[in-house]
Amino acid sequence: MTRPSAGGLAEMAGEDCIRGRSRAVQPPPNASDWRSLTGWGNGPSQRCLVWDPRDARQCAAAVLANETCSLIARGLGRSYGDPAVNAGQGVLQATRLRRMLAFEPASGRLTCEAGVSLAEIIDVFLPRGWFLPVTPGTKFVTLGGAIAADVHGKNHHRDGSIGNFIDQFSLLGAGGEVRVCSRDENAELFWATLGGMGLTGVILRATIRLRKVDSAYVEVAFRRARDLDEALALFEAGDRHFRYSVAWIDCLAGGGRLGRSVLMQANEAAPESVVRKFGGDPLAPPRRPRKSVPWNLPSGVLNSWTVATFNKLYYAAHKDAVRLVDYDRFFYPLDAVSHWNRIYGKRGFVQYQILLPRETSRAGLVSILERLVRSRRASFLAVLKSSGAATPSRLSYLFPGHTLALDLPNTGEDLVRLLHELDETLVALGGRVYLAKDSVTRKEAFAAMYPRLGEFLELKSRIDPENRFSSSQARRLGLAPA
Ligand SMILES: Cc1cc2nc3c(=O)[nH]c(=O)nc-3n(C[C@H](O)[C@H](O)[C@H](O)COP(=O)(O)OP(=O)(O)OC[C@H]3O[C@@H](n4cnc5c(N)ncnc54)[C@H](O)[C@@H]3O)c2cc1C
Repeated sequence: MTRPSAGGLAEMAGEDCIRGRSRAVQPPPNASDWRSLTGWGNGPSQRCLVWDPRDARQCAAAVLANETCSLIARGLGRSYGDPAVNAGQGVLQATRLRRMLAFEPASGRLTCEAGVSLAEIIDVFLPRGWFLPVTPGTKFVTLGGAIAADVHGKNHHRDGSIGNFIDQFSLLGAGGEVRVCSRDENAELFWATLGGMGLTGVILRATIRLRKVDSAYVEVAFRRARDLDEALALFEAGDRHFRYSVAWIDCLAGGGRLGRSVLMQANEAAPESVVRKFGGDPLAPPRRPRKSVPWNLPSGVLNSWTVATFNKLYYAAHKDAVRLVDYDRFFYPLDAVSHWNRIYGKRGFVQYQILLPRETSRAGLVSILERLVRSRRASFLAVLKSSGAATPSRLSYLFPGHTLALDLPNTGEDLVRLLHELDETLVALGGRVYLAKDSVTRKEAFAAMYPRLGEFLELKSRIDPENRFSSSQARRLGLAPA
């Protein structure tokens, strides 16, 4: 453990910078500011005291100066609910820590500051034949945010979560100290921070192992499944052969069509196939202009009628086929439209992402899908995926089973009531919600879903006895005192 001597942090800041963005010097952290913040679901905004540090030294100063209230780190705000907001208290905006520091071409090990986004890593390294070993469904997240949520991607069944590819990180603690954490050094803190939603401290920088690739394309097998059983069988059969798999699922189809889906199962494409089909450089996929939703659409645009029509067309449009798809279209279809979250109107939406263990997943999925069909709640985006082995992390989300993500327009108390009922079903079946998406779960249900919570809280009380690190979510879930 090292105290944050000016020398120590200056030494860190002076490391080789392979791609930095020098900006005008910003005001020091004591020129902080109250702002209204929300998560990606655009729920009710919360007033937070925002610190905007430029470097590790200013982060330490913010942690030490923010004495009267708690603090939580924030990346690009892509978590849906309230883990990166802190009502009436401090938020440390970590997005100006964005230098890439070192890269080892022999191993693919990249060290960068925690505010670097996955999009920036791809921009620099994909043309050189390196890609992220694990990526969530948007590239507009920071490395720090990805570690804090221990994010997963379409390859979880094979490669697990991002934690499997993080060699080490530096963590700024409650007393302003910086600890290097890895599987060998401060290992307990390493595993608590992966999935720990920023509650163990501020990740300043991290080393991730990138994956060598020969092309920026994947070869996708599209398969339609008539119902849930067929979808689960296709995952079962395909997960051995495909690195990536995911299914779009029609949440309004009931009866014999309950769970009808379109599966997308993929492997990296051979560069020769890409050149044959598209010509040019297989590591340089097309660049498309991003569209934007300029303002909140009227609430109610996405209703059961519009979504049912979309679902019918989408299902009909996807015949069984194999196609070459560039990485942007396959991994990040939603990133093509900036501010797409505004389509839900000013009341916003809730993403409810759940995991069920393999033994109970069919029963649980049937029960949850039937409840949604009965309530005529339209989830415009609904995604089903199989998951693989868990890591030793205390609060990480996934273990072997199936995970379903639903985007539900925020209709207020009746939605919350429904989700609390679904939480009870989850608890009864050994399932859980994902903290990066959660905004409504109650602390009793959360404690039942995460059996290693006690270990996490015990460690947190040792390293942060005054609960300097807290968030609105942490207080709601009992991860920090209210
Ligand atoms: C369209 C879309 C698709 C998504 N798909 C997936 C998916 O497929 N798989 C998946 O796992 N997730 C997915 N997510 C969720 C997203 O990957 C996570 O919420 C991620 O944590 C967001 O990173 P961020 O930089 O925006 O962090 P924020 O949302 O700002 O913060 C998230 C958490 O990280 C903590 N944090 C951020 N920076 C730091 C830091 N420097 N030090 C310590 N803690 C920090 C915050 O305190 C907070 O608890 C998706 C989100 C969207 C919007």
